[in-house]
Amino acid sequence: MLTAPPPPASRRQFLTTSVAAALAAALPHPIFSGEPIAAPAASPPPPTRNGFAYRFAIGEIEAWSISDANLALKEGLGLMEPAADRPAMRADLLARGERTDVLPLYVNILVAKLGSEIAIFDAGFGAGKNPESGWLSSSLATIGIAPEKITHAFLSHAHGDHINGFVTGNKPTFPNAALHCLRDELDFWRSPAPDFSRSLRAQGPLPGMIKSNRAKFDILEPNLQLHRDGDALLGGAVTFIPGRGHTVGHSLFRLRSGQESLLHFMDAAHHHTLMFTNPSWAINYDHEPAQAVATRKKLFAELSTTHERSYGFHLPWPGLGRVARADAGYTWQPERWSWGL
Ligand SMILES: [Zn+2]
Repeated sequence: MLTAPPPPASRRQFLTTSVAAALAAALPHPIFSGEPIAAPAASPPPPTRNGFAYRFAIGEIEAWSISDANLALKEGLGLMEPAADRPAMRADLLARGERTDVLPLYVNILVAKLGSEIAIFDAGFGAGKNPESGWLSSSLATIGIAPEKITHAFLSHAHGDHINGFVTGNKPTFPNAALHCLRDELDFWRSPAPDFSRSLRAQGPLPGMIKSNRAKFDILEPNLQLHRDGDALLGGAVTFIPGRGHTVGHSLFRLRSGQESLLHFMDAAHHHTLMFTNPSWAINYDHEPAQAVATRKKLFAELSTTHERSYGFHLPWPGLGRVARADAGYTWQPERWSWGL
């Protein structure tokens, strides 16, 4: 391989740099000359990002939807089941002007202030190496809520995008919060051999995921309070609603204040069109796929009848809206943004 001589510009650059270096050596050191010492060259700062905390109300409850992440899952429709329906899913996405190359995955954290109590519903990925996720803590700071101020934490299920943020540096992120979850969810992860036999998800990461979750539950043990479907807390303002299938102890939550309510349906939908067009279309993260589909069908049938205001953990931020009937299935009607309470 031939080595080309450096182009003239490079040679000029080299000379210029050499002259500058020689001059710098001849000048007094800045500390003696009174000049400020230049900071060492640093990597460029990360791009500025908004706090993404959307404020709204549920009756007397002051609430926020905080974005913890907005990912583009590169497996795209490869994550969706049944596989035979992927061409139909693709056609449906195209008809609606949606992306088909990746699956967008939002992570929305609900925070609710009920008098002197502050509740949080799942905690996202946690701050880590990936700058595309783990935004919860900085957004909580922008709305003036210190982690110590949170009194009640609710865990819908123990996938990483929901539980990881509850632990920071081997300690509970919210040290003064009771952590509420269904007993069945905890029992599943602590069982000798958690059963993933019906799940279509990639099996490779499972041993690591089980180990990680057991360690997190151990750290959170002093804060844990275990529940059953239908349990109500905070004077009836928050109720555990059955949502099994995505995991064996997957729970939904209803928040109520006066005549108003919000149904937080967590991971009953991972996409804002696919699961609505056809509730049988499912992401392969489900542990119990048939039950997850049955849960979604029942939920959407109810919500499209009652028109109850709803909230989705994985729907486009801020994730508020309503489920309505459309064609042979349903549609997600996102709520318009409003800056007043
Ligand atoms: Zn999730």
